[in-house]
Amino acid sequence: MTKLIALLAGDGIGPEVTGEARRVLDALALDLAFEEAEVGGAAYRAHGHPLPPETVALAQRADAVLFGAVGDPAFDALDRALRPEQAILGLRKALSTFANLRPARGFPGLEEASTLKPEIARAIDLVIVRELNGDVYFGDKGRRTTDAGLREGHDLMRYDEAEVRRIAHVGFRTARTRSGRLCSVDKANVLETSQLWRDVVIEVAADYADVELTHMYVDNAAMQLVRNPAAFDTIVTGNLFGDILSDQASMCVGSIGMLPSASLDADGKGLYEPIHGSAPDIAGQGKANPCAAILSAAMMLRHSLGEAAAADRIEAAVATAIRGGMRTPDLGGTATTRAMGDAVLAAL
Ligand code: ATP
Ligand code: MG
Repeated sequence: MTKLIALLAGDGIGPEVTGEARRVLDALALDLAFEEAEVGGAAYRAHGHPLPPETVALAQRADAVLFGAVGDPAFDALDRALRPEQAILGLRKALSTFANLRPARGFPGLEEASTLKPEIARAIDLVIVRELNGDVYFGDKGRRTTDAGLREGHDLMRYDEAEVRRIAHVGFRTARTRSGRLCSVDKANVLETSQLWRDVVIEVAADYADVELTHMYVDNAAMQLVRNPAAFDTIVTGNLFGDILSDQASMCVGSIGMLPSASLDADGKGLYEPIHGSAPDIAGQGKANPCAAILSAAMMLRHSLGEAAAADRIEAAVATAIRGGMRTPDLGGTATTRAMGDAVLAAL
């Protein structure tokens, strides 16, 4: 049966990089239908809102969402609720995508772009499973003036056990498909939420006797990630810690333009997007690296469309293009977005 893909290209380099992902998907001649809708600044221009109801409806109706990026400095002065960036937060909520998978794998030939020593960069092969619907992002927030006349701000960090349990299961299941090692990252020596997190992860571990579970404080995890990233296989962590650790992991690989992500709901339906943003500084110039978007399309095939073999082919083709020396400017070269897409297609 034909699978429907909602293609939400968004702003900045979003249309350029998802355009290359679309060409790669088309070349595979799978039974896919694409429907496009505006999101972010593009949607604000067309409809007066960054996340119009038609866009949400299409995303909910589709079998999977392929997302570019949102963000446009032209709208910086708007109210927070109308800013392009709100569109992605709204979509994650509307689709209940609570599990964010961010794989980071070293590419042979790309070591010189990494901040790490070549032999260390080459050995990276990990996935960060980040909780996406809770934590300080969604707890009570506020500003006030204290009795002493000082300005004060607060963001409540909170998780309930059901929220921790469902992401823990995703962590264990992910580890099981890989080397069977799961590292749960928290700050249980200081935070109540982290103590709950650790208790619940240990309870869930009873269902996964075949997975080896370890725990690490987030500060130590940040250090180990640059010291010896190969020590990690699957990391499961909260929204804030996962945000920080995955950006750190991207530079260990070499460029933010190389890392894809999947945001999944309880049934495996998902939204797929590069971890980078709309990059307004290079938008429209053909300089963006489309690999993160192309690899996001591969994750979509694997996780939501039951096309694991096609996903493997795309990932191998990207690796071949990189090994063959194709380099966009973020990787130290001069190749265009289109040339990188062509190289991946040729390798396919
Ligand atoms: P957001 O808030 O949407 O995450 P951001 O402000 O964090 O966006 P990005 O849009 O990710 O920033 O851009 C950060 C830097 O990385 C910019 O200099 C941008 O040009 C560069 N960059 C991001 N994506 C790519 C890409 N695919 N190829 C090349 N360079 C990129
Ligand atoms: Mg960013």
